[in-house]
Amino acid sequence: MIWLDFGVFIVLFGLFFYIFTANSITLLHKIYLGLHSVFMVWPLFQSIAHTTDDPQYKLFYLSCSYVSLSLIGVGWFIFIVVLTGQTPVIRARRLALLSAPGLLSALFAFVNPYGMFLSLKDKSDMSDRFLTAQLENGPFFWFMVTQVLLYLCVSFFIVAYTLRKDVSSRHKKLVRTALNGLYVLIVFGLADLFINIIFIGYFGSYYPIISVGIAIASLYLVHVITKHRVLDIIENVRKDIMNTMSTGIIVLDENDVIIEVNKAMRTVLKLRIGERFTHEAIASQLPKLAAEELESFFAEQRLRPLERLEMEITLHLDKQNYAVVQYAPIFGHKKRVPIGRLLTFHDITQLRLLLEETNSQNELLHIRNRELMVMQDELSQANKKLQSMAITDSLTGCFNRRYLLQQLEQEVAVNIKNGVPFSIFLFDIDLFKQINDKYGHLVGDEVLCGTVDAVRGSLRLTDVLARYGGEEFTVYLPHTNREQADLIADMVKEAVEHNVMNSGNGNQPISVTISMGVVSIDQFDQRVLDDPKAFLRELLSLADAALYEAKYNGRNQVVKRKLA
Ligand code: GH3
Ligand code: MG
Ligand code: MG
Repeated sequence: MIWLDFGVFIVLFGLFFYIFTANSITLLHKIYLGLHSVFMVWPLFQSIAHTTDDPQYKLFYLSCSYVSLSLIGVGWFIFIVVLTGQTPVIRARRLALLSAPGLLSALFAFVNPYGMFLSLKDKSDMSDRFLTAQLENGPFFWFMVTQVLLYLCVSFFIVAYTLRKDVSSRHKKLVRTALNGLYVLIVFGLADLFINIIFIGYFGSYYPIISVGIAIASLYLVHVITKHRVLDIIENVRKDIMNTMSTGIIVLDENDVIIEVNKAMRTVLKLRIGERFTHEAIASQLPKLAAEELESFFAEQRLRPLERLEMEITLHLDKQNYAVVQYAPIFGHKKRVPIGRLLTFHDITQLRLLLEETNSQNELLHIRNRELMVMQDELSQANKKLQSMAITDSLTGCFNRRYLLQQLEQEVAVNIKNGVPFSIFLFDIDLFKQINDKYGHLVGDEVLCGTVDAVRGSLRLTDVLARYGGEEFTVYLPHTNREQADLIADMVKEAVEHNVMNSGNGNQPISVTISMGVVSIDQFDQRVLDDPKAFLRELLSLADAALYEAKYNGRNQVVKRKLA
C-alpha cells in the first residue's frame, strides 16, 4: 500500500508543478519553484528514513533524498542561467543536454541499481547513529557529488562573468543574491561531504548539515526576494523603466520628502530617498544662476499649488548643459488636495547643440544663398548685355541687320495676315567716302553716329532703326500707311540735311545728306504668307531700287515705290 500512497504523492506533486508551469508566471518564478521543490525533497526523505527500521526501506528513503541533492546542481545552474540572462547563449536544446548528468544522477539515486549508489555494510545495526557510518557510497554516488560540484562551479563562473559586465544595479543585486545562496550551498555541501561521509569515522555521528544549509539558503533567498520584490514583474519593469529613461524624475510627498528619484536624476543632483527636497539642498549643487532660476520656478509653483500646473524652464547647469524642468502636482482620490509633486529634469543639451548647429548651418546657407543671388544677378546682367550686344550695332547703338531681318520676318507675316499697313525705309549717306577721305575715319564714325541721332529724332518710338551695313540704314515703320510714311521720310531727310556736326578739325562744320527709298505696303495678298522670307527679300530689293533711283537722280531725295 505504501507504493499507492507514494504514487498519489508523486501525482499530486506533478499536478502542483503542472498548475504552475501551465500558467503565465515568469520563467524565473517557475525555475525558483522547481528549485525550492528540489530543496524540499531532501529533508522530507531524510526524515522519513528515520521512521523505519527496515534496512531496505531506510536505504530506499535515503537514496530518494539523494534525488534532491542530484538535482540541486542542475537546478541551481538553470536558475543562474536564466537569472543572468544567458538564455540566448544556452538555448533550450543545449540546456536539456547540459542537464543530462543531473537527471541521470537523480535516476541512479532513485533506482539505486545493485546498490551502486548506496549500500549497507552491516544490516544489523540500524540505529541513526551508525546508519551513515555503515553506508557504502557506490560509484554513482561519487558521480553525483562530482556533477553537483561541477554545476555549482560553472554557475559560479557565470555569475562572476555577469558581475564584471556593465549591467544595471538591480540586476547586479539579483545576481549577488544568487551568488550568496550558492556560497551557502557550497559551504554546507562540502562540510557535509567531509563530516558525514569522508571523515564520518572521526566525527562518529551524523549531523544534518545539508538540511541546515538548504534551510539557510532558502530562507536567505526568500528574504531577499520578499525584500526587493525581485520576482515581482510589475515592480521590476517599473524600476527598469524609471532607471533606463533619460528624463530625471523626482517624486515628492506632501511634505516635500523624496519618495522616488531615478538614476538619470542622480547625474544632475545628489538626492537620497527619505531626504527633504529643499532649495538649500539643491542650491549648493547647482551654479548660482541655475539655482536662482530654479528657486523662482518653485516660488511660482508654491503660489498655485492646488492648480494642475506645468512649467518649463531652461537651466544652464554649466556652459554646455541645458535642461527643461517640469512640475506637476500629484492628486489622490480627493482631486483638490495634492498628495505629492512630480518633478522632471529633461536634458536637452544634445537638442540645443543640434539646434545651434542647424542655426549656424542655416546662417551659412543664407550667406551662400545671398552670394549665389548676387552671382545670378551679375550673370543675368551680363546675359542681358550679351543679348543687347547680339542685336545692337556697336558704333551707332541702333539695331543690327540680323535683328532687323528677324523682326521683319515675323512682323511682315502678322501685318499681312491682319491687314495692317506698314512701311520700310532704306537710306544711304551721300558721298560719305569723301567725308572719310577729307576728315579721316574717326570723324567719319562721328558723322555716322550724328546722322543716326538726327534720324532717330524724327522717328517715333515704335519705329525700328537698324544699320543695314556701312553707311546704309533701314527703318521699319509699323502701322504706317503710304501718306504717313512719306511724311516721315521727308522729315528724316530734312533733319539729316539740317544736322550740322563738328568736324573737330578747326571746328569746320559738317553736314551730310541722305538718299532714301521708301516702300509702303497697303495691299494684303495672303499668298505671300506661303513664303514670308521671299516676300521680305522682294520688299527690300524694291527699297534698294528706289534708293538707287534717288542716288541716280542726284541724291538728297526720297523715292517712293509701290508694291507691284
Ligand atoms: P554714294 O553712296 O553717295 O554713292 O557715295 P559714297 O561715297 O557714300 O559711296 P560708297 O559706298 O562708295 O562709300 C561708302 C563709304 O563708307 C566707304 C566706306 O569706307 C565708308 N564706310 C563704310 N562703313 C564705315 C564706317 O563704319 N566708318 C567710316 N568712317 N566709314 C565707313
Ligand atoms: Mg553712301
Ligand atoms: Mg553705301
